[in-house]
Amino acid sequence: MLYIVPTPIGNLEDMTIRGINILKEVDVVYAEDTRTSQRLFKHFNIETPLRSFHSFNEHKVVKNIVDEIKSGKKIALVSDAGTPAISDPGFLLSRACRESEVKVICLPGATAFVPALVSSGLPCDKFHFEGFLPHKKGRQTRWKFLGTLDETFILYESPHRLIKCLEEAVEFCGERRQASVARELSKVFEEVKSGSLNQLIDYYKSDGVVKGEIVIVVSGKEPELKKKKNKYSDQEEE
Ligand code: SAM
Repeated sequence: MLYIVPTPIGNLEDMTIRGINILKEVDVVYAEDTRTSQRLFKHFNIETPLRSFHSFNEHKVVKNIVDEIKSGKKIALVSDAGTPAISDPGFLLSRACRESEVKVICLPGATAFVPALVSSGLPCDKFHFEGFLPHKKGRQTRWKFLGTLDETFILYESPHRLIKCLEEAVEFCGERRQASVARELSKVFEEVKSGSLNQLIDYYKSDGVVKGEIVIVVSGKEPELKKKKNKYSDQEEE
């Protein structure tokens, strides 16, 4: 079977005991960046061999990995941070395993969007995960779609595009929308800032250069106040 193992998004204490044990037990760990994972392995005394699995070679190596697992090798997949396949390589391998009837077990664990969503204070009973928007082509189309959503949506964005992204949110969703920016989650300078989109733009413009990793959470469209006739009067109720 294939184990998909989340790794910390900042704080190494977020690595689970089960994750460490699986990474020690398997024969090979495929990693997005073997040097990044090597540092994690050193910290937890994991000596399992690492091999590369990233967006540039995943199409090529997926079949080999499935064959390795079928021949009896125990294999795990990690990304640089968080859960593989969430805005990271992993989907192709998970799908290929399923298609070849190889069991896929994804351990629960670190990911950036869940703490960003839950700490935003915005409704999280339903939500849409968008991840990274395309930089140029297709960006407007995605924004047009996001602007129509009733539920909270989540974006991954780089810090130098934060203000541009918040301004686009105003353009496509209106300035009244509530939002939240989660920065450096689980790290020393963790900050979760909430407010209207305009308040957030003012805050980050006055804050100088924005640094660190960022998740943007935006509330959904306000439900239209339904107008219904009060059967006892001619007035409309909201
Ligand atoms: N696989 C990861 C996950 O499960 O969340 C996501 C990987 S994606 C390449 C990296 C993006 O995740 C960053 O650009 C940022 O938007 C978000 N991210 C990762 N670590 C973060 C952190 N500590 N604080 C805030 N956002 C973070």
